[in-house]
Amino acid sequence: MHNHTQNNAELVRRSLSAVWHPCSQMKQYEAFPLIPLARGRGSWLYDFDGNRYLDAVSSWWVNLFGHGNPRINAAIKDQLERLEHAMLAGFTHEPVITLSERLRDLAPAGLGHCFYGSDGASATEISLKMSAHYWRNTGQPDKVHFISLQNSYHGETLGALSVTDVALFRDAYGALITQQATVTSPDSRKAASGETSEEWAMRCAGMLAEHLHQHHEKIAAFIVEPLVQGAAGMAMYHPTYLKLARQICDQYGVHMIADEIAVGMGRTGTMFACEQAEITPDFLLLSKGITGGYLPLSVVMTTDDIYQAFYSDNAARGFLHSHSYTGNPLACRAALATLDIFRQDDVLALNRQKAEYLNRISEPLRTMPAVRNWRNTGMIWAFEVESRHDNFSQRCFQLGLQHELLLRPMGNTVYFMPPYVISDDEMELLTERTMLVVGALA
Ligand SMILES: *Cc1c(COP(=O)(O)O)cnc(C)c1O
Repeated sequence: MHNHTQNNAELVRRSLSAVWHPCSQMKQYEAFPLIPLARGRGSWLYDFDGNRYLDAVSSWWVNLFGHGNPRINAAIKDQLERLEHAMLAGFTHEPVITLSERLRDLAPAGLGHCFYGSDGASATEISLKMSAHYWRNTGQPDKVHFISLQNSYHGETLGALSVTDVALFRDAYGALITQQATVTSPDSRKAASGETSEEWAMRCAGMLAEHLHQHHEKIAAFIVEPLVQGAAGMAMYHPTYLKLARQICDQYGVHMIADEIAVGMGRTGTMFACEQAEITPDFLLLSKGITGGYLPLSVVMTTDDIYQAFYSDNAARGFLHSHSYTGNPLACRAALATLDIFRQDDVLALNRQKAEYLNRISEPLRTMPAVRNWRNTGMIWAFEVESRHDNFSQRCFQLGLQHELLLRPMGNTVYFMPPYVISDDEMELLTERTMLVVGALA
């Protein structure tokens, strides 16, 4: 047998010396050590010391059907023996064709063309560039601005940051980006007292209309996270906002970009969040869960109208954007296996039962005195904790690990975004242990 503890300490030391970890102040790892992972299975991650952690955040919202899923593993292995990768300019292959056809069939009607990137931020970049280029190609070159919601998050490359309204991620780079305007978020927590979330959504749509009324001649697109603003702290809102926003964008000739990178692939209870508002956006962005959390892949789906504006004998009118790994066959096969699981297991129906069960058993957690704003959309739950600690999120993360939970609060917002394979027993463990953590930090 290996000496696991020594193995562990050695990996931490090597990682801190060579790996610059994401979304981290590296010095904090002196106080809060890294955890080297040995393997993953289902909803669980395992370290080298025999500890396990319930992945209640789906490893940053990407994992849908568990770690080490046999069906996705098999699909990737099969593809590995055929074609691992080839450039997609001038060539094509079965996985990317089939994935594009199946997404077209699943997505809101009218989104017939798929353009691929490697991660969520690149999908945002692609949609912003495509939108502005569309207006240039159609004789409205002044439409080069974008609007997003307050507290929006659309990724962290420079273009995506320009439509991201999270100060922590943006402030250091203010001089490098063209900050775009934001409009009031329909976040249900901000409704006036006595006002329903739908009435508040309608009021916010009125503010969007007012903004577009004044500025539409310069605005290419409105980019929005449908139903749930993830990085804002799982801010949820009424679908009426999206329905009205669609009408308002049409009225003023502004594209609507639905960033479903986090909320797509069944997360909100429907395959795509836009379905709940019965709208088709001009651009639909997918990434994160699309490969089941296995491989980086993103897709920008768009309409015939937009596609046709680029179709020409003139090369410069084309969309000359590219990423080296565009349409990677292994990632596309992982995505196809993910779509197969949705179909074979009737996942959306199963998830409704799971969500109902978690809502039922979480009653004692929801009614704790320190828990505020309990909310749920599909397979996302969130609440704020009134805590006496000012570094609540770090403490909650640490204490969660001691209770076998991977929770990663955003500020005082704790959320569950579990893999869809989470079992009843695991949901019980999740809510019971979360009560212990919240109780200790209240
Ligand atoms: C995660 C996320 C992104 C960025 O995706 P990356 O793959 O991290 O670049 C963009 N938009 C939303 C809504 C996201 O949740």
